[in-house]
Formats: sequence, C-alpha cells, structure tokens
Amino acid sequence: MTQTETDPQLYFADDGNPRSARFDDIYYSLQDGLSESRAVFLNGCAMPEVWAGRRHFTVAELGFGTGLNIAALMQLWAAQRPESGHLHIFSVEGFLMPRDAAASALSAWPDMAPFAAELLAQWPPQRRGFHIMRFPQWGVTLILALMDVRSALSQWQGKADAWFLDGFSPACNPDMWADDVLQAVADKTAPGARLATFTVAGFVRRGLQAAGFAVSKQPGFGKKRERLEAIFPGEPDLRHEPQRIAVVGGGIAGASVVAALRDYGYAADLIDPAPGSGASGNPAGLLTPRLDAGGGAISDLFADAFYYATGLLRRDVPDAILSEGVLQRPASDRDPARFAKIAGQVAFDALDMGVEAAGLRLPRALALDPRTVVESLLGDINRVTKTADSTEGYDIIFMTCGEGIFDLDLSHSLDLRPVRGQIEVAGSKTRDPQAQAWGGYYVPTPDGFVFGATHVRGDRGTEVCEADRAHNLDTLRAVLADEAAAAEAGTHARAAIRVTTRDHLPVMGPVSPHTYALTGLGARGFCLAPLLGRALVAQALGLPSPLPKASAHLVRPDRFHGG
Ligand code: SAM
Repeated sequence: MTQTETDPQLYFADDGNPRSARFDDIYYSLQDGLSESRAVFLNGCAMPEVWAGRRHFTVAELGFGTGLNIAALMQLWAAQRPESGHLHIFSVEGFLMPRDAAASALSAWPDMAPFAAELLAQWPPQRRGFHIMRFPQWGVTLILALMDVRSALSQWQGKADAWFLDGFSPACNPDMWADDVLQAVADKTAPGARLATFTVAGFVRRGLQAAGFAVSKQPGFGKKRERLEAIFPGEPDLRHEPQRIAVVGGGIAGASVVAALRDYGYAADLIDPAPGSGASGNPAGLLTPRLDAGGGAISDLFADAFYYATGLLRRDVPDAILSEGVLQRPASDRDPARFAKIAGQVAFDALDMGVEAAGLRLPRALALDPRTVVESLLGDINRVTKTADSTEGYDIIFMTCGEGIFDLDLSHSLDLRPVRGQIEVAGSKTRDPQAQAWGGYYVPTPDGFVFGATHVRGDRGTEVCEADRAHNLDTLRAVLADEAAAAEAGTHARAAIRVTTRDHLPVMGPVSPHTYALTGLGARGFCLAPLLGRALVAQALGLPSPLPKASAHLVRPDRFHGG
C-alpha cells in the first residue's frame, strides 16, 4: 500500500473530536472517550478479574487508532498485574495516523500521560509490517500490525484471550466487520476468551455467532443504548511453565534469546564453552539489511528484522553504536539501477534510503561494537561451565552456538556450511568518517578503523592468514586508497566462522523435542538475531510471535527435508 492508500485523512472536527474523512466517522469522543473505552472494552472483557493468576494474557484489537484503548489497558494492567504476569497485545491498524495527531488526541487525558508518552515514544512510521513495542517496566509487549485487517489476522501467530473490536462504525466501515473477518478473529481466539465491542449491529452479532461466539447485549455507555459482550466456548488452557532453560552459545544469537527471555520474565543458564570467540567477538561491525532487488517476502523479513534491531539497540544499547548511517557503494555497473529499485521497494519504506552519486545511503544502518551489544544483552545471566552437548535436566534448550554447531549432528540435518571471515584492525588516524560497504566493508572506530572481510567457504580455521590480509587490503584499496596505504603499515587481524545455509536464509525454530535453534545468520547476525531470537522464544514458550507467518515459513528448520 502506498502512503496515500494508507492515509486516514485525519482531522480534528469543530467539536475537537479526532475524525477520519476516509471513513467519515470519529475515533472516539474527546469528552468521554476514555470512560467509554473503559466501560466498553476493559469492563466488557471482565478486566482485571479475567487475568487473575495468569502468567501470560493476550489481548488483540482491531483498530489501533490513537492507541487510547491500549493505553487504558496498559494502565489497568500496570496497576492490577498478576504476579510475574506478561501482557501480550496485538493491535491492527491499516491507516496509521502521524504521531503528532495521536499526541494531541491523547493529551485530553492527563492521568494517562505516562502510558501515552511511552506509546508515543515508540510510535512507528506507516511501514507495512509488524511493529514491536516493548514496555518491560509494566510487563507488556505490543505488536502493532500495520496492514489491512485481513492480512494482519492471517499473518499473526497467536491466540487472544480477549478481543476489542473497534473499527469505525459498521455503517461507515463494513469491511472491518465482514463475516470472513469475524471468522478469522475466531480462528485466532483461545478457549474461554472474551470479546467486546461498542456496536450491536445485527450483521455483526450474527457474524460473531456464526463464528462460534456466545453473544449478549449489555447496557450501552452514555448515549448508546447497547453494546456487545461475547464469550468463546471452552476453558482457558493451563500452561505448563518451563522450570529450567538453557541457552547454548553467547554470541549475538544467544544474547538476543536471553534478552527476549528477560523481557518475558524468564531466567536462563548460559552454556558457552568459548565466550567471545565467535563472529560476534569482532571489534566493529555493520548492522545493515540484506538488499534484495526482488522485493517480496525476503525483503519483508530483512526490513522487519532491521527495523527491530536498530530500534532495540538505539533504545537499550546506545553505547555500542559507533556511528549512524552506512553508505552502500556500487560494486558493479548494474548496482546504481539496482539501488534505485531497492530504495523504491515497499518493504524498505520508512528506512529513509536515498540514492546518491556515491551509492545507496542507509541512514538508519549502524556501525557498532558487537562485543558491547552482546555483553549488554546478556546482562547478568547465570553462566555455567559445560560443553555444548551436556544439556540434560533442562526443559527448553536454545541452540545458538554459532560455528560450534558444526560439532553437533544438527549441522548435517540443517545442511549448514561454514564460511571463514578474516577482518583487519588498523590503528591509523587517516580515515574517512563514513562507514561503508561494497562487498568489502570499512568501519571507522575511536582508535582507527576496521575493514574486511574474506569469505572462504568450507573453512573452519581461525588462525590469521597473510593471504587474507593481502586480499582485504586489495579490497580496501579499490575504494579507499589513502586508508589502504595507511593500513599497509600493519594491521591486527582476527578470523571467525560464519554459519550459512544452502538458500542463504537463516534457520529459526524447533529442531528436536525441547530444542530450538537460531543459526545460519551468515554475515547478518546483528540485523537478524534480535527479532528472530525473540520469535524463537515466543515459539518455544507458546507466546504470540513477533514474526509474521510468511517470515516464519521462510526460516523454518524443516525446509531442508524436502518439505
Ligand atoms: N481503538 C482506537 C483508539 O483507541 O484510538 C480507535 C479505533 S477507530 C474507531 C477505528 C480504526 O480502525 C481506525 O484507526 C482505522 O484506521 C482502522 N481501520 C479501519 N478499517 C481498517 C482495515 N480494513 N484494516 C485495518 N484497520 C482499519
């Protein structure tokens, strides 16, 4: 969808109410919108009683709008949260309003200010995809699906314990209440779930009943005579909570899993036979997406992962950022045309890419210190000294051991291959301040610069080699001759092993009972691991996934078995 297709055509009417000209309806009344939201949705779903004693509770909403319902929900959760409880929210919005408009609408309720402020701080651009917002201080995760309601429901991997149906009125916005939409809602509903909406329109009631809900009319709020509550048949599932969790390997994949576990309120043991020895131990690296001129599902995956990783690091680990923005230089005559195509792709909307004479500018890309990222995400994890294959006694095992996976049988079933990479660290002060990539890459650091890297397939050796150094210098010389001349005086080299797959896509998912793997990240670990690590944790614990179904399908481990 283009920007014009997703513009809500928002304005504030003479009475001050936020209104959409596209749908010819108000979002809510400024006068009593908050009381209505509480009466219709929170009370309509029997909150807070409904989540008593629940370790995880999932609320889904159709029609995020200004985020008022969600802010009110978070406020109630923060005040009445069950012990160690985590609230998972999934909200759908096809026509996101700009942050300023939401800010001015939400400013009507000063007692909700802290919740509104946090929502606004993480307000996304209208970028088609799942946008993940984290509120660890309240034990809340919000996935905002910025897409049409049908796509959002078909891509979401989760089940709601409560639903807020808050499209514009069925008369103005019938598509949001169509039978197939209500059936898709039912398909994503947990047994015993509640549903609430402000409308009692006959076709909505019948649609909900046909989809399996038991519907009842309740006295309405304010001028509205009636509203609906509904219950889905069945008893809520009693979850089995894992007691002991192991994360094998403390590079960026393991650190991302640990950070996600911590967000959801779980501790783990870190088993790392050789801390800091892998590819995440390099002194500098780039966080860039894979630029795929083909667009489609692969671009969506990389754009989502890139957006999430850069947002997470900017918020949680700003000290690890060496510089912002990367210049992608053309490496062939075809690249300028390819760059123009990539910059125009929907998947890369809102990443603010720009084509220039020098190449493709990626202003949101980062140069970073990988070691600081990993240490900070690992935090005060419990480290145990064991080998990678001694994991008995754990309920869930996350295999995130980088090239250590080649010592395990798993590497054969996943068809993984090692690719050795050597990088050079130069102490010279002669340097271009712009981080850049062109096949080779160059990253200025506080002490000089780092450049590389070699790609030697099938090689697991980590000893530094002179031929690789010469190759790295040649690659650098082709683009940055002064820096190459300065580096000739001497570099300090480091070699590590990347893990790659036959189709150059990562692997994320279950690999045997109780064991889940994140591997095959190649040279894109810092882009992919934060999102995929979170998705892996969600999958292992049975929580709503931050990854759309199509992306999860691309990276599933069983794709190598001919399936
Ligand atoms: N819950 C919101 C709040 O707290 O501010 C108010 C929601 S407003 C009544 C309805 C929302 O549904 C609008 O933001 C609108 O853009 C969205 N919407 C309407 N049709 C849609 C569709 N087909 N797909 C996704 N979102 C849609």
